[in-house]
Amino acid sequence: MPLKTPEQYVESLRELSIRAYVGGERVESIVDSPSIAPHINTVAKTYELAHRPEHRDVMTAESHLTGERIHRYTHIFQSADDLVKKIQMLRLLGQVTGTCFQRCVGLDALNATYAITFDVDQAEGTDYHARFRTYLEMVQHDDLMLAGAMTDPKGHRARRPSEQEDPDAFVRVVERRPDGVVIRGAKLHNTGGINSHEVLVLPGTGLIPGEEDYAIACAVPADADGVVFIFGRQSNDSRKLEGGCDIGNPRFGVVGGEAMVVFEDVFVPNERIFLNGETAYTGTLVNYFATWHRANYGGCKGGNADVLIGATAKMTRVLGTEKNAVVKDKLVEMIHMNETTYASAIGASAMGYPLPCGSYMVEPMMANTVKQNITRNVYQIGRLSHDLAGGFLATMPDEKALDNPEIGDLVRKYHTANPEYDVDERIKLGRYIENMTSVTTMVEAMHGAGSPQAQRIVMLGQADLEDKIRMADDVINGTDDVPGLPLAGRPTTVVE
Ligand code: SF4
Repeated sequence: MPLKTPEQYVESLRELSIRAYVGGERVESIVDSPSIAPHINTVAKTYELAHRPEHRDVMTAESHLTGERIHRYTHIFQSADDLVKKIQMLRLLGQVTGTCFQRCVGLDALNATYAITFDVDQAEGTDYHARFRTYLEMVQHDDLMLAGAMTDPKGHRARRPSEQEDPDAFVRVVERRPDGVVIRGAKLHNTGGINSHEVLVLPGTGLIPGEEDYAIACAVPADADGVVFIFGRQSNDSRKLEGGCDIGNPRFGVVGGEAMVVFEDVFVPNERIFLNGETAYTGTLVNYFATWHRANYGGCKGGNADVLIGATAKMTRVLGTEKNAVVKDKLVEMIHMNETTYASAIGASAMGYPLPCGSYMVEPMMANTVKQNITRNVYQIGRLSHDLAGGFLATMPDEKALDNPEIGDLVRKYHTANPEYDVDERIKLGRYIENMTSVTTMVEAMHGAGSPQAQRIVMLGQADLEDKIRMADDVINGTDDVPGLPLAGRPTTVVE
C-alpha cells in the first residue's frame, strides 16, 4: 500500500542530496540539522496519522487513477465530501502539531495542475494532462511530499514580469531544448520545500502575450542540480537549539519552515513539464490554487487555535483566574472566532462543484472569506490569549535563571501563582503562547495563500453588486404581492 511510515519519510529524505543553507551555513544533512528537525517531525505526523485506523477516513483516500488507498495529501478531490474531509484532516493535524504541517501547498498545487492541464489540452490539443497523470501516479504510489513553489520575488511591484530590470525576478525558461527546458529564478516563502521530495513550480501570477517564458509549470526533484534552499529565520528560532522549557513549541516547527528556493539554470525534462508558454491559462491556474488553499486556513488554523485556546485556558488555572466570568467570556470569544472560520471552510467545501476535468473546487466566495477572516481572527485570538496570560509573557525570566542556585528560588517564589502548579509549568505555557503568537505566526496568517487585498478583490468580483442592487430594488419597489392584503403604502388590489 502506498503509504509511507514516518520513519520511511525521514529515511527517504536522507537519501536525497538537498543543497540547503541554514544560518548562512551549508547543511550536509537536512535530517541531522536541529533547525530543520522540528519541521521534519511535523510532516512525519502527516505520515503517522495515515496509519492509525481511527483517522483512516480523513487521512487517506482512494486514488481515482489506480483504485489504491493513498494518502489524502496526494489525492485529487473527487467530490464535495473529499473537500470536507480535507478540512477535517487539516484541523486534526493542527490539533496534533499546533503548527503548519506543510503538505497542503503541494496538494493544492497538484490539484491545480491536474485541472489546468486538462483545460489546456481541451483547448489547445496538447498532451500535458496525460503527462501529468503519469507523474501523479508516481507521487501517489511513492507517497511523496511535494512543495508547491508559486511566489516569485517579483522585483519592482509596479512592473510586469517582462518589464523588470532583472528578468529573473520571476521564474522563467532561459533555454529550450528538444528534450526539455532550463529554468532560472527563485520562489520565496516556500513552505516545506527544504524537507520535500519534489518541488512543483507554478507561475505565481497571470501572464500576458509576450511573457511566454514565464508561463512554466513543472516538477523538479528537491535535490536536482542547481536547486538551492536558503532557510528563513523565524521568531525565537535560536531558542529551539537551547532545549528546556524556553523553547515554546518543543517538538514541532513554528509555521512551515519556509525557505527561498533558487533555480540556478535547472534542467527539466519534457515529461516533467506541464505548461510551457501558454500564458492565457496562467491566471486560471493561480486562481485554482489560491481558492483551494484559502479555504484550508479554516482547518489548519482552527486546529492551531484549539491548542492555543487550550494553553490559554490552562494558563488561567495556573493563575487562579479560571472561574472569573470575564475570563470565561474571553475564552468563549476565542472559541467563537475559531469556529466561525472553521464553519466557513466546511461550508466552502460542502458547496464544492465539479470542474471540467472532474475534480472538485471549493465555493470561491466562502473560501476567500475564510482567509480574509483568518487575517483578523488569528490576531484577535492571539490578542485575547495575551490578555488572559498577562504581561508575564513579555517579562518572564529565562530557564537558566531557574537553574542558578543564587536566584532560582527567588524566581520560583515570586512567579508562583496557584500553588497547585509549579513555576516551570507556567513558564512552559507562557513560552508556548509567546512562540505561537509570534511575529512569524501572525505574518504567515496575514500573507499565506495571498495577502488580504487579494481576497477582497475576489470577494468583490464574486459578490455581484448589481445583483444585490436588483434584490434591494425588488424588495423595496416590487409589486408581486398577494392580492387583497392591506399593505400600507401599496395600491389596494381587489380580489375578483
Ligand atoms: Fe497547510 Fe495551513 Fe500550512 Fe498552508 S498554512 S500549508 S494550509 S497547514
